[in-house]
Amino acid sequence: MNALPSVATASFDPDVVRRQFPILDQEIHGRPLLYLDNAASTQKPVQVIDAISGYYRRDHSNVHRGAHALADRATAAFEKARMDVAAFLGGAKREEIIFTRGSTEGINLVANAWGRTHLGPGDEILLTAMEHHANIVPWQLVARFTGAVIRVAPVTETGELDLDAWKALLSERTRVAAMVHVSNTLGTVNPVAEMVACAHAAGAVALVDGAQAVNHFAVDVRAMNADFYVFSGHKLFGPTGIGVLYGREALLEAMPPWQGGGEMIERVSFEAGTTFTTLPWKFEAGTPHIAGVIGLGAAVKWLQGIDRDAAAVHEQGLLERVDAALAGMNDIRRIGTAPGRVAVASFLLAGAHPTDVGMLLDQQGIAVRAGHHCTMPLMERLGIPGTVRASFSVYNTIEEVDRFLEGLDKVRSFL
Ligand code: PMP
Repeated sequence: MNALPSVATASFDPDVVRRQFPILDQEIHGRPLLYLDNAASTQKPVQVIDAISGYYRRDHSNVHRGAHALADRATAAFEKARMDVAAFLGGAKREEIIFTRGSTEGINLVANAWGRTHLGPGDEILLTAMEHHANIVPWQLVARFTGAVIRVAPVTETGELDLDAWKALLSERTRVAAMVHVSNTLGTVNPVAEMVACAHAAGAVALVDGAQAVNHFAVDVRAMNADFYVFSGHKLFGPTGIGVLYGREALLEAMPPWQGGGEMIERVSFEAGTTFTTLPWKFEAGTPHIAGVIGLGAAVKWLQGIDRDAAAVHEQGLLERVDAALAGMNDIRRIGTAPGRVAVASFLLAGAHPTDVGMLLDQQGIAVRAGHHCTMPLMERLGIPGTVRASFSVYNTIEEVDRFLEGLDKVRSFL
C-alpha cells in the first residue's frame, strides 16, 4: 500500500484527510461519488480499515478467557480501545465505558436495566419532539411495562428546542430526562449541560444521545455531567455494529444486568444462583464485537490525530456556503435553521417529493438522504412528510458543495 500522510501531529488539511478515505475515490453512475449522507453513517479512514484487517490477520481470538498468546493480544487490544474511548469522552473511567451495538442498544440498555427498576406508575420520562426513534421507542416500551408516562417538550419553527417549555415540564415526577445532543434531522445542538443541570435539580437522571455529536466536536461527559451518554461507532468513522454507553459509575453499579450469559458472571450455580462480575463487563454478555471495538479504538485515535477545532471550522465553512445558497432560492424551504447547528442541511424543494429529489441526485453520483430520518414525531410537528438531507463531514470540500448545488439545479430541470 502507498505510504499515507501521517496524522500523528494534530493538524487539519481537508485534502490530506480526504485521501485517507479510499471509498471516496470511485464513480457512481459515471460521476465521482459525492457523499453527503454522513449523518446516516460516515465513511472509514484507511487507519480503521487496516486496524480491523490487521486484527483478523494477526491477533484474532476470543477475549478475556484465553490462556494463550492470541487471546492475550486480542484482550489487550480490546481493553486498550476501551481506555482510548474513555479518554476520548474527556476522561471517563474504564468501569464507565460499556460496549454496545450502537446508540440504539445503549438507550435500550438504560431503559431496561435502569428504567424497569426505577420507574413506576405515574413517574415521568421527559423527551423532546426532536428525538430520533432510538430515544423514543425504548422509553415507550418501558413506560408500557412500568406505567410511567412520557412527556414531550416542543420544538420551535426554526428547529430549536423550546427550552422554557422543556423546563416547565420538569417536576418532582420526572425520573429521567432523555435528550438528543445534536438532531440528526435539523443539526440543532441542544444546550445539554444546562439541561442536565436542570434535570438533576429536579431529581431526575439525564441521558444524552450523542450519536450526531461526537463526530462534529469534542465531548466531555464529565463537564456535561451527564448520567448516561451514548454514541455509535459507524457515525464516528468507525465500524457498524459497535457503540458506547457511558454511564456514571455509581448508577451502573446499582443497576441490574440487562442481558445475561457468558462474560458477565462471577459464578453460576443452579443451587446458589448466579453472581455477576464487575463493571464494565457486567453489561457485556456474550462474545463481544472484538473487531468492532478495535476499529472504534482506531477511529477515536484517528480523530484525536487531527485538529478538531480546525475540522469544525472547515465543516462550518461548508455549511455557510450551502446555507447561503439555499436561503436565496425561492423554491427551497429550509428545515432547521437554529444558530450554531452542525453541518446538516435539511430542506424541501417545491413541487418535488424528497424521495424523488434524492433519486435524481443519486443519478448524478450525489448521495443524500430523503425521508423522515427516523424522526416521525418531528415531521408531524413540522407538518411535513420528510426532508432532503445533505449532511457534511470533514472530508467534504467546498467544490463538492458547489457540485451539490449544481446537482440540485439539474433536479429542477427534470421536474
Ligand atoms: N440517535 C440519533 C440522533 C441518530 O442519528 C441515530 C442514527 N441515525 C441513532 C440515535 C441511532 O443510532 P444507531 O442506529 O447507530 O444505533
